[in-house]
Amino acid sequence: MTIKEIARMGDPILRKVATPYPINKIGSFEFNQLVQDMQETLHFAQGIGLAAPQIKVSSQLVVIEIKDTSSRYGEIPAIPFSVYINPTINVINAETKGYWEGCLSVPGMMGFVERPQHIVINYLDQQANSQSLELKGFLATVFQHEFDHLQGKLYVDQLKDMQLFAFEDEYKLYHQQTE
Ligand code: ZN
Repeated sequence: MTIKEIARMGDPILRKVATPYPINKIGSFEFNQLVQDMQETLHFAQGIGLAAPQIKVSSQLVVIEIKDTSSRYGEIPAIPFSVYINPTINVINAETKGYWEGCLSVPGMMGFVERPQHIVINYLDQQANSQSLELKGFLATVFQHEFDHLQGKLYVDQLKDMQLFAFEDEYKLYHQQTE
């Protein structure tokens, strides 16, 4: 296992549409190594989600782990470490809600982004089984943020109001209380 360098905004790999992960490679040595590297890198960076392009692997693979369920957005369900392969999103209700988002590829910054708050995702899990998951609220935002990485998109693309784009310290000083 290796802690990988995280690609930062400006690296062209973050702007490429990632390649679907070959189903017959799920469970292979190479696959397990990639997942372990992503897990270790996610833990080291203390993030809640990481997409393969963020460690410079242009494959449609995302890992998410939420341990701390009392976030600044209130109680959210814990998600044990999970792998999401070749995911797609169906919006159930297009009504949006905004949250302040951060990204390991845009370190030190926070931005307010509005996204649909009721979605269903379809994906393959670590055993190559098809799965479907309904998500609401902040979790819907987390998954959309991560899956956007597989389409070459960053949350900064979704900012509608540049006044709500801030350094972390200034976010805490001037915006956190007003959420
Ligand atoms: Zn991100």
